[in-house]
Amino acid sequence: MDLDAARDFPHNPALLKLALYCEGLRIDEDATAELHESRGILRTRAGLGSGLELVLPGNLWTNAPVAEDFCAQSPFLLTFRKGRFQVRHENGLATDVEIAPRPTWYDLRCSTGKQMSRVGTLQGTYLGIYAANVCEFWTRKNREMCKFCSVGLNLGADDASDKTQREVLEVVRMAKLQSGITYVDFNTGHHEDEGYLDVLEPLVTAVKRETGLLVGVQTPPHSDLERYRRLRELGVNRVSFCFELYDRERFDEICPGKSATYGLDRYLETMDFCAALGKKVNMHEPWVTNGEIIAGLEDPQTTIAAIDRITSVGAVPTVCVFRPLKGTALAHLPPPKTEDMVPVFRHLYEACMRHNLPIGLAPNVHVSLVMLPEECAWLSPRRSSWSFRTKQWRLEVKKRVFHHLFDRKVRGISQDPAPVGSAVDGGEG
Ligand code: SF4
Repeated sequence: MDLDAARDFPHNPALLKLALYCEGLRIDEDATAELHESRGILRTRAGLGSGLELVLPGNLWTNAPVAEDFCAQSPFLLTFRKGRFQVRHENGLATDVEIAPRPTWYDLRCSTGKQMSRVGTLQGTYLGIYAANVCEFWTRKNREMCKFCSVGLNLGADDASDKTQREVLEVVRMAKLQSGITYVDFNTGHHEDEGYLDVLEPLVTAVKRETGLLVGVQTPPHSDLERYRRLRELGVNRVSFCFELYDRERFDEICPGKSATYGLDRYLETMDFCAALGKKVNMHEPWVTNGEIIAGLEDPQTTIAAIDRITSVGAVPTVCVFRPLKGTALAHLPPPKTEDMVPVFRHLYEACMRHNLPIGLAPNVHVSLVMLPEECAWLSPRRSSWSFRTKQWRLEVKKRVFHHLFDRKVRGISQDPAPVGSAVDGGEG
């Protein structure tokens, strides 16, 4: 794609989403004054999100970097004029955007007194919960945390480190009721005793039973692969394995804890095992396996090879754009260039389509921290080919069937109990 032509971002929201990840966003004074109803600028979770949640044209949700040093040089400026937010590029082009509204339940308290936004936060339109104590790579004596990660800086700051099942259920119910969430994503880091699935299984079981929502789990790869068969039986819909780097030397260098404890091969083998579990399709309770990587910390061709490796077994790649978060060991690095990332994300879409992967099927799941594969269709000239249009049509049929079954299941679950939250009235109770 000719990037000059592609800079016509008002007509290509995927390119705008990608360019904002790579180039950041400045905010002018008028827009700053109007951000009081936004979600604020949380560090959020999983070490890749720190920015402002926006909704771009085409209903593409994003988390635009605004706090890191590189953002000060961004060609993009958020403005507020005549009652409208716009992202303006220095080349003169502009497009209307919306600010993701701050859910009113963020300011409510659980029955235990904990502020709800300290239990879970919306990432785009789904609820993300970092469910356990801080990743133990942060607490080991030799501190072997991944060098891009900010998780250990977040917990206890924006996010509470001790969350009970009762609190989690209260927040899930409230987010379902008030924000219409359809998906809950549970995330943990490393535990020396591999206890992460022990922590998550009761939470997953309770959320499935009481809400019927889609549920995902992102943890390091457990050594007992049978645990994943059990997760599927419990109704988990997504498992995700973040190996981050496909170049082995870079993996060792950037993720010293993961490298020493698990190794890249264990991530890949676990992903392969879980992807094979999904071969038997169940539209009532779908099962998707993700391999998660970061673009911008290794050669783009290596990222493309990782996408091919992941899709070859029927898993769906989750590709994050590297963000040099403040306070992390890689804060001094520049983010990747947009023009280097366009071929990577174009390949993401095309590889998923070639392998007939189930992309874009989940109801009302808009992800702000990554480019979804189906969003990357905007970057591919092949999207209008006969073969891709036929595949797209088949996906559309599956999507309708799945949405219908999901609606029926969620409606069939008894009404949610009355909300428990009470208004926040000062400091943590
Ligand atoms: S495993 Fe790495 S990326 Fe995950 S929470 Fe721990 S340090 Fe962060």
